[in-house]
Amino acid sequence: MTTELGRLIARRIALTGPIPIADFMAEALGHPRLGYYRRVLPVGAAGDFTTAPEISQMFGELVGAWLAERWLAMGAPSPVRLVELGPGRGTLMADALRATRGVPGFRAALRLHLVETNVPLRAEQRRSLGAFAPAWHERFDEVPPGPALIVANEFFDALPVRQFQKTAQGWRERMVGLAPDGDTLVFALAPGATPFAPYLPHGADGAQAEISEAGRGLAAAIGARLVRDGGWALIVDYGYDSGAGASLQAVRGHRGAGILDDPGETDLSAHVDFAALAASANAPTFGPIGQGYFLRRLGILQRAESLKARANKSQRAAIDAALARLIGPDQMGTLFRVLAVGDGRTSLPAGFSEAE
Ligand code: SAH
Repeated sequence: MTTELGRLIARRIALTGPIPIADFMAEALGHPRLGYYRRVLPVGAAGDFTTAPEISQMFGELVGAWLAERWLAMGAPSPVRLVELGPGRGTLMADALRATRGVPGFRAALRLHLVETNVPLRAEQRRSLGAFAPAWHERFDEVPPGPALIVANEFFDALPVRQFQKTAQGWRERMVGLAPDGDTLVFALAPGATPFAPYLPHGADGAQAEISEAGRGLAAAIGARLVRDGGWALIVDYGYDSGAGASLQAVRGHRGAGILDDPGETDLSAHVDFAALAASANAPTFGPIGQGYFLRRLGILQRAESLKARANKSQRAAIDAALARLIGPDQMGTLFRVLAVGDGRTSLPAGFSEAE
């Protein structure tokens, strides 16, 4: 085992037996001192991966326009909780707030709430968003009640998943155990039946499936809150419209890595099962639709043209390249899905009015 956290996990398994992959993921990402999302600066060129708001300001600007439009549709409540889950470097929210400067009353009405566990990232968010006096929270349910606009980009993919494999005896949970050397983490199937079997699809032998209890629980909390207090949520992530195989992956320095190698130093994420989120929300949902379709409906092509009109040649090329990354069907345009959750009191949200 190469990391301190890896040795801690190995010791726990040696004492109590194999653990679900979700427990491994929760430790690897969330261990208070050694977890990846507690201490690493994951996003950006120097980090392990990059995200839509880091690719171009256009992403946050259009999300801002969407949020402001929803606020107006709600009847412009004041105050309104503007909540971001996992704000990263604060780039999306900074772009969104700059783009909505001209919406009368929006700034005065909003109270900014950032749900973030990562201490170095909170410092970055203070730099980018300090002017809006954000309140930070460890968990979504700490956000005070009231009408809310919620945004989450590449947040749900970081929530722990369980994995299952179909065998001749039925579905078995995939666990993390120890190799005979007593030190190396390995995958192993649980010997007995799993109580999750009723929630798993009909699969052939060898089929794999994932369930994120954390993702479903959070979607349920968001839906319940929106129905109770009013508001909207916009969830963007890579994933499936329905059903997922085994998608858990490890990324380090913009490259694939071993899931069980170097816990705490590697990003772990899984494709988001949007059908499960929508069902768990138990509230009106719209989508999921492709990110490319959503951004085009919100006017990203026009926004790119207006930025290019004020740009030099190399800046124009950079804007075109960013646009292609965000909306290209072979890039983020289709794999990334957008789901809106509403309160059932307001009209259809922008971007969602037609099927893709
Ligand atoms: N939304 C940003 C960052 C995505 S990375 C962007 O698009 O660039 C995931 C973000 O979620 C990081 O800010 C990370 O620190 C945070 N995060 C991950 N797991 C979390 C958890 N369980 N609770 C709160 N924040 C979490």
